[in-house]
Amino acid sequence: YSRGQASPLPELELQYADFAAWQRAWLTGERLEAQLAYWREKLQGAPPLLELATDHPRRSALGVTETSRLFELTAQTTRELRALGRRESATLFMALLAGWQALLGRYTGEDDVIVGTPIANRTRAELEGLIGFFVNTLVLRGDLSGEPTFRELLGRVRETTLGAFAHQDLPFERLVEELAPERSLLHNPLFQVMFALQNVEVGELRLGDLEMEPLGGGATGAKFDVGVMLLEDGERIQGRIDYRTDLFEGATIEGMVEHFRLLLEAAVAEPDRRVSELRLVSPAEERRVLAQWNVPRAYAQDRLVPRLVAEQAARTPDAVAVTGAGRTLTYAELDERSSRLAHALRGMGVRGETPVGVYLERGPELLEAVLGIWRAGGAYVPLDPTYPAERLAYMLRDAGAPVLLTQARLCDLLPRHDARVLRLDADAGRIAAESPVAASSELDADALAYVIYTSGSTGRPKGVRVTHRALLHTLLCAQERFGFAPGEEMPSLASFAFDIWLFEALLPLLGGGIVRLVPREEVLEVERLIEGLAGCTSVHAVPALMREIVRVLRTSGRTLPRLRQVFVGGEAVAPELLEEMRGVFPAAGLHVLYGPTEGAVICASHQVGEGEARRQWVGHPLGNAALYVLDRALRPVPVGVPGELCIGGASVARDYLGRVELTAERFVPDPFSAEAGARLYRTGDRVRWSAEGELEFLGRVDAQVKIRGFRIEPGEVEAVLREHAEVREAVVLVREADGGAAGEKRLVGYVVPDAAE
Ligand code: AMP
Ligand code: MG
Repeated sequence: YSRGQASPLPELELQYADFAAWQRAWLTGERLEAQLAYWREKLQGAPPLLELATDHPRRSALGVTETSRLFELTAQTTRELRALGRRESATLFMALLAGWQALLGRYTGEDDVIVGTPIANRTRAELEGLIGFFVNTLVLRGDLSGEPTFRELLGRVRETTLGAFAHQDLPFERLVEELAPERSLLHNPLFQVMFALQNVEVGELRLGDLEMEPLGGGATGAKFDVGVMLLEDGERIQGRIDYRTDLFEGATIEGMVEHFRLLLEAAVAEPDRRVSELRLVSPAEERRVLAQWNVPRAYAQDRLVPRLVAEQAARTPDAVAVTGAGRTLTYAELDERSSRLAHALRGMGVRGETPVGVYLERGPELLEAVLGIWRAGGAYVPLDPTYPAERLAYMLRDAGAPVLLTQARLCDLLPRHDARVLRLDADAGRIAAESPVAASSELDADALAYVIYTSGSTGRPKGVRVTHRALLHTLLCAQERFGFAPGEEMPSLASFAFDIWLFEALLPLLGGGIVRLVPREEVLEVERLIEGLAGCTSVHAVPALMREIVRVLRTSGRTLPRLRQVFVGGEAVAPELLEEMRGVFPAAGLHVLYGPTEGAVICASHQVGEGEARRQWVGHPLGNAALYVLDRALRPVPVGVPGELCIGGASVARDYLGRVELTAERFVPDPFSAEAGARLYRTGDRVRWSAEGELEFLGRVDAQVKIRGFRIEPGEVEAVLREHAEVREAVVLVREADGGAAGEKRLVGYVVPDAAE
């Protein structure tokens, strides 16, 4: 036409409109039903969203641009992929798709990964010459369940792909209409990740004197979260990844490309290896990930916590150690009182590792009790007076505590039990008659320090047994990181039944400072609490309480200028809360604390920096806690890729009391330790490393939740609900309270009554 000539091409027999009319008539009745039935079955129960861990929260669908990264697969990988495909009667497309789905499985930890793929959809010869939009999108559901090998996965992908090709006539938009998934502007329906292999080269376009050149895409509206376009280019495969820049950073996508390449290389080298075990990182990077952020410290282990407190008492006998509930004890007094108590306890038969229940109001007595029990060689079992009597009775029974420390006024509240009772108030005379000098200690670093109960999914709480060594390492590392000094003061606000109480109560003492044991009524009355904080240099609170403190400080305009550091943790901390804290504590160091009971109080912390990314932080390892981010085969995952946080090193708890199976399930042999018998605790927390070595919290691998600092397995509540005669089924969920303040979470139980009623 540019030369003014007529077209030499024959007239087309058909036009796009003919195709459209034909398609409408053809795809009806039984034919349509068969296609719909196929897809309905294939996509039944499909997850609505592939939860790739994004760098930025999914906030909007509008005005989002897409950027590309280019990459290449080597000629050797391409050749080997083709060869593997041939052996398994699979195409190159299938082999590449298997690799991509395997990667998505590794990135998300899911078995069920869906990608979309475009197909030309010109299935008849008459359509080949037509100009028009025929392309359809097929939904390919990858099944990674049951730990398949790559070869098995390839077989599954082949079947899925062939089935999808045989049912490709149903337009994607009809499928969406038919399946009617819940629609959201935040993501594409049915699939969010696109995958395509072009095997027809576009080649150079030339029309007479006209030269043409494809222009780069530039900014467009993003259609998918991530899209991979591969092109067979002779020997090699060229690739392009498009991604939503509102969700992902370029570095994350570059990592993804690198891991895709490594995974394909590993798969062709060892197709009979489980997909979950294929290496995503080079051995060198793996070693780096393992070692670089876990830096062990050497600590003397012959001086355990009770001894360190005694040494402090010898240095500063007259300094105030603990205050609260109208009483104050100096270091010397605390030391003497706990020594006397230790003698009294030994008189009652407390020896190495004897569990001793502690059922006391909040006050300096708590510290006397804990130190006294340790000096007697025993392990304390905290019993919070606010817990229901049945739970307390269960804990006493399960722990098998032969001795119980309490106060006369609490005795009536106690459930029935067989323990011998020592009342700190009513039996004070008896205790005072004991020697104030500590007996020579027989404590061993491997001896138990405490048994703390946490929720159990089978309906019964489980007692975590923690040794002195684990506690010592946590406290020494924390002391090194946060540095408490004489004259400093920290309130203890946490329930005595949580292990973070040990952080609050003992850390100031190891540095010669003061701990203020705030009574419960005062913790609940935030205005009063804040008055008590005026003299404090540090404070720790769970997010729910911290939110209250921040709110009251803001509305009252009060400030707490003495505060040097502010700790928040025990559950996920919203970035909004950290920002608000920055506002009311402009000069203080802000730290997020992380740690499960099984990892001895805390094992990571994050110091909140100016202008840093808005994340939920776990932080970097505390001294001798070795933290690993592992896949299901307990292999390290690369930086930036989500995995389960596992804790090794010195702060791992001994076990769950009397639960051999559960212990074996959660405390597994540590493959990274040279020490015989070393174990890893699998936390169930999903995390990933940032490039700077800070762990980010992404959620749980199970249903466990935290509410106002309480760790709850909904399964425990469900199991109890189901015990009711008239309840057939029960489900327990966490919901944000309707109309309540942000972050106000509640546990809601739903029951199906027994049909017989
Ligand atoms: P607990 O044994 O009561 O200390 O509970 C431990 C669990 O609390 C961890 O396994 C996490 O699920 C959660 N947790 C503690 N600290 C944090 C934190 N900073 N961010 C997110 N979750 C946390
Ligand atoms: Mg904790």
